[in-house]
Amino acid sequence: MQTGVLTTLRLLFAKIRVSECYRDVTPTDFCGHTAMSYSLPVIRHGIRIWYENLHVSRTRDSGGSDDLPLSSLSRGDHVHGGLRIEIGGRLVPHLGYWNADDVCFGSWLLELRGVADAFSETTAQYAYDEGEQGQPAFVFERAGNSGFFSIADSQLSDGHADPEWQRVEFEVDEFLSQYSLLQHSFVTALRKEAPASAEDWIRTHEGVSRGF
Ligand SMILES: [Zn+2]
Repeated sequence: MQTGVLTTLRLLFAKIRVSECYRDVTPTDFCGHTAMSYSLPVIRHGIRIWYENLHVSRTRDSGGSDDLPLSSLSRGDHVHGGLRIEIGGRLVPHLGYWNADDVCFGSWLLELRGVADAFSETTAQYAYDEGEQGQPAFVFERAGNSGFFSIADSQLSDGHADPEWQRVEFEVDEFLSQYSLLQHSFVTALRKEAPASAEDWIRTHEGVSRGF
């Protein structure tokens, strides 16, 4: 929120300067100020990414799932939990399947890795369309220093776009550092909570831990 307020203030000042001395604008001298003293007319929101309530998820034959502590982890298990992506103070919805704490981290960490890899280009688009019933597609775009996040219609299932989440802007560098922190703390949590099987699980899910 604070970033948004500051950006708004900067925009207001930028507009005042433009109206005061529009005719003096030159590429190197903007109204007597340095080129850094005004902002482009964009609102970028802060982005934070973290996890909560990591657990082992084993599907029961009868449907639904059993949630077990991380300490019961073995290499073939699914690690689920709450993946929180907050942009501009709003939490991204629909990430979990059964509930908000039912996000498949083996899948999502690979997809976020895919986003980070795609963002090595200054113009990029990366969509994660998991195809599960009712789940929408999650789309990450990059244009220069700006990233954009959208929840779009799934091309594989009946999941729908969310009008509240269309090209919501964030800073690419902040996304990349938040992703890196998430990946690091996830791997650290596995090693701490399930020391006997963490390395085996990490090797089996190659890409989750790439870079560590
Ligand atoms: Zn899973």
